[in-house]
Amino acid sequence: MGLKVYLDGRFVEKNEAVVSVFDHGLLYGDGVFEGIRSYNGLVFKLEEHLGRLFESARTLMLEIPLSKKELEKTVLETLKVNALKDAYIRLVVTRGIGDLGLDPRKCLKATLFIIADKITLYPKEYYEKGLVLATVPTVRNHPEALNPQLKTLNYLNNILAKIEATNAGVNEAILLNAQGYVTECTGENIFFVKGKSVWTPPPYVGILKGITREAVMGLAEASGLAVREDVFTRHELYTADEVFLTGTAAEIVPVVKIDNRLIGTGRPGPVTLKLMKAFKKLTLKEGTR
Ligand code: PMP
Repeated sequence: MGLKVYLDGRFVEKNEAVVSVFDHGLLYGDGVFEGIRSYNGLVFKLEEHLGRLFESARTLMLEIPLSKKELEKTVLETLKVNALKDAYIRLVVTRGIGDLGLDPRKCLKATLFIIADKITLYPKEYYEKGLVLATVPTVRNHPEALNPQLKTLNYLNNILAKIEATNAGVNEAILLNAQGYVTECTGENIFFVKGKSVWTPPPYVGILKGITREAVMGLAEASGLAVREDVFTRHELYTADEVFLTGTAAEIVPVVKIDNRLIGTGRPGPVTLKLMKAFKKLTLKEGTR
């Protein structure tokens, strides 16, 4: 029995889970998505992910064919049908089938699919030794061009940055905005620790408001750290005690080198390690089933 994918109202086998070449998700990247995780049968922050999906769709004037409640049920059903407890869930809504022009009014019905599969974890050494990062030439999308707060199928800004990081021989890219302020990485938010403060950029610099970011800000506050959501430059990263990234797939991952500058001791720091533990605990405690 193979993987079953939810596609427009029914579960189909993996090899039958196909969309039309006229789908505007493919032709124009016109659509939205979420990446969600379940831990031991508990879906982490499902409501928040669905909230963000509907907000992205609202701005794009894309009508999601199911209600939030129905979508929640369908996500849980997709896990059940595949007997998955620890999974990565990809929920995608595209503008649907249209003609070769880009007018979304010609697309009569959105395409909706949900894939739940085993998670491919990041290599263990990323967490033990930390990541090496570099700032890249590609700047993050200007919020008035394509706001990074929208989680859309247009990821070319991030993909270009990823290519540049790979070419530079590092694990991940840091994107700055047009003013030179630090925004985020290609699929993770960024934090730094200095003394008893934890800093992360505010949404208006041009970031995705990560759901892991939000959870980690809460955990940092609960552990007595001052959380500061404010703009900063590369200099603050180079001179930080610790740097780490957050995301649904990565969770919390330490950073030990940026643009050839060692961060702190050059090894994952105590605050990062403490937050990693607290986050793990949270994922096993909280969630929707
Ligand atoms: N920034 C970008 C550009 C992302 O794609 C993601 C992950 N999808 C994140 C940040 C992290 O967000 P979250 O914690 O909600 O997964």
